[in-house]
Amino acid sequence: MSHQMPEKPVGTKPHTARMYDYYLGGKTNYGPDRQVAGQTLAVYPNALVAARENREFMHRAVRYLAREQGITQFLDIGTGIPSTPNLHQVAQREDPACRVVYADNDPIVLTYARALMKGTPEGATDYIEADVRDPERILDRARKTLDFARPIALSLIALLHFLGDDDDPHGIARTLLAALPPGSALALSHATDELDPTLHRVVEVYGQQDITVRLRGAEEIRKLFADTGLTLVEPGVVATCEWHPEMEDKQDGMRRPPGSISPSEVGCW
Ligand code: SAH
Repeated sequence: MSHQMPEKPVGTKPHTARMYDYYLGGKTNYGPDRQVAGQTLAVYPNALVAARENREFMHRAVRYLAREQGITQFLDIGTGIPSTPNLHQVAQREDPACRVVYADNDPIVLTYARALMKGTPEGATDYIEADVRDPERILDRARKTLDFARPIALSLIALLHFLGDDDDPHGIARTLLAALPPGSALALSHATDELDPTLHRVVEVYGQQDITVRLRGAEEIRKLFADTGLTLVEPGVVATCEWHPEMEDKQDGMRRPPGSISPSEVGCW
């Protein structure tokens, strides 16, 4: 058996990482996670499609960065519970020498981090238990594995909507990107109710569990890229399902026929 569960669930509170795992059809989730995920699905049935499309966006973005931009180093913050393929597996399939550093602040993800470290012998992977609100610490630790003289792709995928405005997500992104050399990149996805207005109901369900969710619109995401001095590649800020569909790899994907999903179902820029 390749997937080991801890003997007991860690705590009885629902966790966003485990709820996301449930939406993805994973096995690392427990009663309280499924219960609140069920409440979420009752008010926002597209959560399943949104989660899976988000995960596939991550796969395609990594392939694009490796293939089109020649990037071989990745700093992935808000990694989530391992779900095959993980980012390093997608990247190392493109180039076995890829080096990947993961960071997440959820102890549950740490429990499973070993699965994130099983990379190629030519490349390297590392896991940092850290909060994105402490970017300096993540950068310090990442230096052990990544060469900051060569381009690094920063990925903040389905992460920043868990930060309130008080946490200053723009400032955090600026700090992280300022440390990266020329040729580096940012890959980002973010929950929004501009595609499907019913997504705002999720804010309430998560809020009842003391989990902050802050939806943001396309304009604010464009501004985040502009603020950090980055130029958006084509097609810019779009629904996850519309971003470079040609980068899909049949062996990882859900193999949806092109055009069979509408942006209003995915809830994520
Ligand atoms: N990036 C993955 C997982 C997204 S789920 C993907 O897109 O498939 C969001 C993840 O962000 C969860 O694992 C959660 O634990 C993590 N997270 C939430 N707030 C965080 C914070 N302040 N610092 C670091 N990680 C955080």
